[in-house]
Amino acid sequence: MSNPSSSSSSPPPPSSPPEHVSKADCLFCKIRDGQIPATIVYRDERVLAFKDIGPKAPLHQLVIPLDHIETLAEAAPAHEALLGHMMLTAAQLARDAGHGDKGFRVVMNSGVGAGQTVFHLHLHILAGRSFGWPPG
Ligand code: AMP
Ligand code: ZN
Repeated sequence: MSNPSSSSSSPPPPSSPPEHVSKADCLFCKIRDGQIPATIVYRDERVLAFKDIGPKAPLHQLVIPLDHIETLAEAAPAHEALLGHMMLTAAQLARDAGHGDKGFRVVMNSGVGAGQTVFHLHLHILAGRSFGWPPG
């Protein structure tokens, strides 16, 4: 039986946002899609950056890929350029915030054992205080 309301073969309207790899219950996918508020500091066609809700330093921002990738351990060779873009975006944001010369730290926790709590790949940018080594 045909369903007149079905439009599975219709192309999306021109104003549709680009589709990204998503996971329905992912916090950072929801921030990417505007379903959960965040203070966005940068966005382009591949990455999004926003302020961490629980800052561990005067500057604490997160850079995420728009596509849902759970952990660095699951990243593939196809993600090589994206991961490089995340690093360069982090450096640019640190410079923009005035920490290029003073120093900043980038951290990516991969897996529960390393402290990852949100399973959408993200790079922490931390600056504005001194940091111990090795990290705790
Ligand atoms: P990780 O522990 O490496 O997975 O880092 C997850 C980070 O996400 C933590 O630093 C949290 O403070 C941060 N975070 C959790 N929820 C939000 C949110 N709604 N907006 C911004 N940052 C968040
Ligand atoms: Zn996600």
